[in-house]
Amino acid sequence: MTDVRSFVTSYLRAIGAGAQPLPTGALAVRWPPTHAARFGEATTIAFDPLVAEASTAELCVVGSDLLDRIVADASGRGFHCVARVTAENEPLADDVLAANLKFPNARPSILAADRGLVPYLLFNFRVALVTDEKRELVKSVLLNAKTLEVHTAADVFLQDSLTIPEERNVSEANLAASYGAACGALERAILREVEPIRAKASAMLATELERINQFYETSIQELYAGRTQAPLETEKVFRAERDRRVDEAGRKYAFNATAKLVNARTILIPTTTLHLRLANERSSKDLDLEFDAINLETNRPSCDSCHTTTDVVYLCSRGHVACDACDRTCSFCDHVVCSTCAGEVLSQCEACIRKACPDHTFQDEIGRKTYCPDHIHACAICGRMVGPAYVKACGLCEQSYCVVDVETSGRCRTCRTLAAIPATHADVARATTAKGEPKNLTKWVRGENGKYTVLVGKGAIFQYLYVLDKGGATIRREKGVRLLGG
Ligand SMILES: [Zn+2]
Ligand SMILES: [Zn+2]
Ligand SMILES: [Zn+2]
Ligand SMILES: [Zn+2]
Ligand SMILES: [Zn+2]
Ligand SMILES: [Zn+2]
Repeated sequence: MTDVRSFVTSYLRAIGAGAQPLPTGALAVRWPPTHAARFGEATTIAFDPLVAEASTAELCVVGSDLLDRIVADASGRGFHCVARVTAENEPLADDVLAANLKFPNARPSILAADRGLVPYLLFNFRVALVTDEKRELVKSVLLNAKTLEVHTAADVFLQDSLTIPEERNVSEANLAASYGAACGALERAILREVEPIRAKASAMLATELERINQFYETSIQELYAGRTQAPLETEKVFRAERDRRVDEAGRKYAFNATAKLVNARTILIPTTTLHLRLANERSSKDLDLEFDAINLETNRPSCDSCHTTTDVVYLCSRGHVACDACDRTCSFCDHVVCSTCAGEVLSQCEACIRKACPDHTFQDEIGRKTYCPDHIHACAICGRMVGPAYVKACGLCEQSYCVVDVETSGRCRTCRTLAAIPATHADVARATTAKGEPKNLTKWVRGENGKYTVLVGKGAIFQYLYVLDKGGATIRREKGVRLLGG
């Protein structure tokens, strides 16, 4: 989409070279004496690989040796101006960082901040967006010549008054790479403008096509209804005419965007390079960021999962950066992973489908499925972790255990192995302190497991069941006849 022809043509004009377009599409260039040593007497230049091949011309496209030499030469001339921007009272790097980026689950610390005068390249493009109408706009792309980071081309950079034509100290800038990066940035920037135009054009085309088709359908139907002579011949003519008009409409509303590089200049801008460490208790990640003294905008890190740039930066527990759309959090704690790692780090509960980190994921030791803390059950008798399918309540103490520990009779292992204790046992006193509890029962049986104590006092008629928790509090009490059966 971006062509270098216009840039090269104006460069040739600026240096006083002769340029003659050839029928093949190539350009015959006669270099001026000032350039003969570097470029030779004459060169045939092609801007299209097919033309280059067909006419043995030298290819001049982004990345080609020839364009590289032309841009390098242009950068040393008045044609490619060098300018300088100064800034005072720059805020602290921490403040700039805080104003630009959000780190919801990590703390950023600036390990190093280096400030220096850095060469940038400003590319000015003229973009034409063509459908049934033509829109022209000028787009400027500013980028750090060393890091190729794109910065906002603020108005101040576009002023001619900045120019200091004599200054030259940008020789190490990789111009071809910068130009390639600028073209990429340009395409992203104009995409926003292009979309509505493209949508409007295709809607208009659809309406137009419907109108054309309807007109000819109706005409053909009328033709047969009127039974004119040789309707088939006339129909053919109609159809051909319709096809021609459809083609015409397609061309009229076709969308086309072209961009031409108008000029390029170097601007020296005070720039701060930040070496940043992003950390939380689970991981850390180092990032390099930069901001210029005019925009005070840091570049945005790119998401390691979807590769789009983001101003909301999450730190994955495996050390990745994730954007707002690609972060995944454990349903039970603040453990964050990126969407790439989520599949390996987070597990889904078989019962409620919530995703949880390894700390909050449990495996059913019988069924081998994974469950969240809300749906796993630790058996108080055997310690086994089981899911809802393998949990069973005891008919006597009514507490839940794993199915292995609750017999078909309905009693848990604790309730099946109650042993006689003296009435003076501390648990008896604890269970019967409250008003209204039987104080004079003499026969007691007791059992306990990891979580509960089961006590049954046997009176002459009634039996009293107490289930105590680890703190000795009664969590269940029942009075009945033959609680223990037989
Ligand atoms: Zn993302
Ligand atoms: Zn968790
Ligand atoms: Zn990750
Ligand atoms: Zn669950
Ligand atoms: Zn058990
Ligand atoms: Zn029980």
